[in-house]
Amino acid sequence: GDAGVPGRVRVAVRLRPRNGEELIADADFADCVELQPELKRLKLRKNNWDTDTFEFDEVLTEYASQKRVYEVVAKPVVEGVLDGYNGTIMAYGQTGTGKTYTLGQLGEEDVADRGIMVRAMEDILAEVSLETDSISVSYLQLYMETVQDLLDPSNDNIAIVEDPKNGDVSLPGATLVEIRDQQSFLELLQLGEAHRFAANTKLNTESSRSHAILMVNVRRSLKTIDGLSSESNGNSHMTKSLKPPVVRKGKLVVVDLAGSERINKSGSEGHTLEEAKSINLSLSALGKCINALAENSSHVPFRDSKLTRLLRDSFGGTARTSLVITIGPSPRHRGETTSTIMFGQRAM
Ligand code: ADP
Ligand code: MG
Repeated sequence: GDAGVPGRVRVAVRLRPRNGEELIADADFADCVELQPELKRLKLRKNNWDTDTFEFDEVLTEYASQKRVYEVVAKPVVEGVLDGYNGTIMAYGQTGTGKTYTLGQLGEEDVADRGIMVRAMEDILAEVSLETDSISVSYLQLYMETVQDLLDPSNDNIAIVEDPKNGDVSLPGATLVEIRDQQSFLELLQLGEAHRFAANTKLNTESSRSHAILMVNVRRSLKTIDGLSSESNGNSHMTKSLKPPVVRKGKLVVVDLAGSERINKSGSEGHTLEEAKSINLSLSALGKCINALAENSSHVPFRDSKLTRLLRDSFGGTARTSLVITIGPSPRHRGETTSTIMFGQRAM
């Protein structure tokens, strides 16, 4: 597949390196997967003798840098947004496999660690001209089918509005912040993260039980896109009076999905069970929409969850969509790793 082809989901798999505990406790055990990045293949160990082989659009090993991950997973989507097409970048996987590291890492200690959100904004800021263009950002959490504003904690039940004319999705109640430089964007992400932590403490839940959603709206005037300014154009006066500036709008949605691990329903009750049901609802609705796109189906069931309703105008159609599935190497989590790989495979 090709991220330049709209309507289809591009799927990358990323393996995180063993952590300290896995290096020691599982030292005698081989990883449950073996990657062949040149062949874009992943081998999943079934037992000591047998492996299953899967192909993806990109296979990113534990040595893949954050820069490389940005380039293969996100850059084509960001370029589409700058050209006026909506786009979505999502990370799916078990808690602890690197979704937030891949998308949300700020790189405060080492800029080489910066994840997709920060790199995307860097590319957008480099491309637009802030005299004529604008960048505005919302940052949300979707928990138990409720949209909460991570930039204003008092705003904890935001409505999703669909324009019946053009299908545009908007959140009129969400805080929208104008971004003019990278520093203000980093501060916004930090503020959102702090509010997310506080909200989840209050709700007695973990951030892995909700989806974090960053929306970046880029509004450009055609003047910058053409590279033609009114000053350099001899007929500027006439052109200006005859043609109003053409506006090109693109929206980038970055989704750090809730952990995909199965919660043991038999052992769960009350709050935990309700959370599990809600996560299953939204992830399975997402899976169904992705499958419908992969199968070129005329009916994509966007209405089935808040998550898919939010993504409706940034997913399929002319939008570019990129999914990174994150996995860990430990043989102990082979079951979860298998189900993550199957989710990714069904998208292709
Ligand atoms: P998730 O968001 O899926 O729950 P995290 O992104 O929080 O997982 O990652 C879990 C831990 O593993 C974190 O300490 C993170 O820094 C580390 N980690 C994840 N992916 C990588 C990677 N590719 N390289 C180095 N460390 C990683
Ligand atoms: Mg996370």
